[in-house]
Amino acid sequence: QIAYVNGSFVPLAEAKISILDRGFLFGDGTYEVAAVLNGRIIDSSSHLARLQRSAEKISLALPETPDRLVALLKELIALNGLEEGFVYLQVTRGAAERDFAFPKDARPTLVMFVRSKKMIDSREALEGISVKTVPDIRWARRDIKNISLLAQVLSRQLAVDADCQEALMVENGFVTEGVSSSAFIVTADGVLVTRPRFNAILDGCTRKALIKLCEERKIPVEERLFSVAEALAAKEVFITSASVLVQGVVVIDGHPIGDGKVGGVVRRLREIHLEFAHATGV
Ligand code: PLP
Repeated sequence: QIAYVNGSFVPLAEAKISILDRGFLFGDGTYEVAAVLNGRIIDSSSHLARLQRSAEKISLALPETPDRLVALLKELIALNGLEEGFVYLQVTRGAAERDFAFPKDARPTLVMFVRSKKMIDSREALEGISVKTVPDIRWARRDIKNISLLAQVLSRQLAVDADCQEALMVENGFVTEGVSSSAFIVTADGVLVTRPRFNAILDGCTRKALIKLCEERKIPVEERLFSVAEALAAKEVFITSASVLVQGVVVIDGHPIGDGKVGGVVRRLREIHLEFAHATGV
């Protein structure tokens, strides 16, 4: 395993940053996760655009251009011989005296690593997953992909403790999104419903790509709030993310959705998205 740290490719076990790094001390940084299929990065332009936006929103200057970052990620994939899995990229405000305000002289820390993961024929993709609903206790700027993930850590653990694979976070009775995924329901009429983006959720790259793919195919998508009750009564439910692509949800809080199996709409959407993913890999 080879990782990247501030300009160097190094064995993962030797990859190190300072304990004064503001990412470590304050969660002061941003990150991206992109899928890798056949050794290619999926939807890289969307991920890099979001990285740039998140960095801008927290006044963090990226240490490399987006093109250079993609080149480095590709080099890392090649060095690791990664075929299927994901790349992880994180930028923090760097190491400095521990002071809340921005340091004047710190250089951003840039790290990257890759992980091998079965993306296409995973058991979860074929059989669907169980989810648990939990209160959304995150901060107000969920549109910024921020490395402070304690709320998500605690929420995912609640799900795992309940033998679920993901948690759906709920605010005022309405589902916001998954701990690390966007959430969709399919109504009895075959309409896809997902929360509008704004500040309450992350603008998921997979979500965005899938909505566009649906528009092109005249599959109706409504961006509006939906409640837990609506999700429980939905024909199908699914989540999307770079690390699971399109994944069926077959149980919510112990209640089966539909017949408790991954439905036809989700299977078709997963195929449509996989086709797009293979076509856009770089
Ligand atoms: N929502 C949250 C809170 C996430 O952390 C993620 C990904 O990690 C997503 C949605 C899905 O985004 P993407 O499709 O870009 O992976």
